[in-house]
Amino acid sequence: PPDMANSKFEYVKDFEQSDPLLPSTWIVVRIDGRGFHKLSDHYAFQKPNDRRALDLMNAAAVEVMKDLPDLCIAYGVSDEYSFVFPPTCQLFERRNAKLVTTIVSTFTAYYIYLWPTYFPSTPLAPPYLPSFDGRAVIYPNTRILRDYMSWRQVDCHINNLYNTTFWTMVLQGGMTNTDAEQELKGTVSSDKNEILFKRFGINYNNEGEIYKKGSVLYRQYELVEPKATPSTEDEASVPEAKQSRSQQDKLKKLRRKAQVVVDHVDIIKDNFWARRPWILS
Ligand code: ATP
Ligand code: ATP
Ligand code: MG
Ligand code: MG
Ligand code: MG
Ligand code: MG
Ligand code: MG
Repeated sequence: PPDMANSKFEYVKDFEQSDPLLPSTWIVVRIDGRGFHKLSDHYAFQKPNDRRALDLMNAAAVEVMKDLPDLCIAYGVSDEYSFVFPPTCQLFERRNAKLVTTIVSTFTAYYIYLWPTYFPSTPLAPPYLPSFDGRAVIYPNTRILRDYMSWRQVDCHINNLYNTTFWTMVLQGGMTNTDAEQELKGTVSSDKNEILFKRFGINYNNEGEIYKKGSVLYRQYELVEPKATPSTEDEASVPEAKQSRSQQDKLKKLRRKAQVVVDHVDIIKDNFWARRPWILS
C-alpha cells in the first residue's frame, strides 16, 4: 500500500475495539426487518401471511448463503432470519461487527434488488425503504444451538396460530380488530384451533407448511460419500470436518457448489438433523 502508515494521525487506529467472538462456539446472526409492521401496511402485504413477502425473504437469504459458504444453516420467519456459522468458522477472524454488518447489508441489498421480482406492481419508494437490524449471539454447544432453532420455530407456530385465528375472525367473521383481540386474550392453542374449526370450518393442520413451520435453508449435497448411511431421501452426508488442510479445502469447494434448498419442515425433533448429519458436523 502507499506510504500512509506512520503518519502522526495513525494513533487514532488504536481507539478501535477488538470484538472477536469466542472461539469454538456456534455463531447465530439474527436479522430483523425494521418497522415491518408499518412497511407491510404501506405495501399492502396480505394478512396474516403474504406469500410474496416470505418468498422474497427466502430468496434474499439463499443469496446470503451462496455468498457466504461458511454458513451451514439458516432459519426464517416473518421479517427475521437467523444465519448460523459453525464453531470452526474463521471468517473475518470471527469479528462480531464484520460478520453482522456483512450479513445485514448483503441481505438488504438482495432484498431490495429482488423486490420487483416478487412485487412487480408495487415499486419501493422512500421513505418506506426496507432495512434490517442484526446481532450475533454465540452458543457453546450443539444442544443449545438446536434449542435456539427450536425456540424460533416454536415462536413461528405460536404467532402463526394467533395471526391465522385473529385475521380469520376479522376478515371472515366480520369482527373488529379490538373484538377479535379481546376474545383471543388468554386463550390457549386448543381454543384457537377450536374457533377456527367450529366457526369457520378451518383445520389449522391444513394451513401451508411455510406459514406453520417457517423456512429452513441448508446445503444439499449431490456427491455421495461411500460410507454415508443411505437415507430415505436422495441425500448424502459429508464426513466430519476434522481433517487435513486439503480435505478441508475439498469440503469448502463442496459447500460452495452445493445447492441451497428451502424447506418448511420440523426442526425441533431429531429427525431433520439425523437425516442431514452434515449440517451440524
Ligand atoms: P475488504 O473486503 O477487506 O474491505 P476491499 O477490496 O474492499 O477488501 P479496501 O481496503 O476496503 O479493500 O479498499 C477498497 C478498494 O476499492 C480500493 O483499494 C480501491 O481499489 C477500490 N475503490 C474504492 N472506491 C473506489 C473509487 N471511488 N474509485 C476506484 N476504486 C475504488
Ligand atoms: P421492529 O422494528 O421492532 O422489528 P416491526 O414492526 O418490524 O418492528 P416485528 O415484531 O419484527 O415488528 O414484526 C414484523 C411485522 O411485519 C409482523 O408483525 C407483520 O405485521 C409484518 N410482516 C412481516 N412479514 C409479513 C408477511 N410475510 N406477511 C404479512 N405481514 C408480515
Ligand atoms: Mg475500504
Ligand atoms: Mg427488531
Ligand atoms: Mg421487525
Ligand atoms: Mg420480526
Ligand atoms: Mg472494503
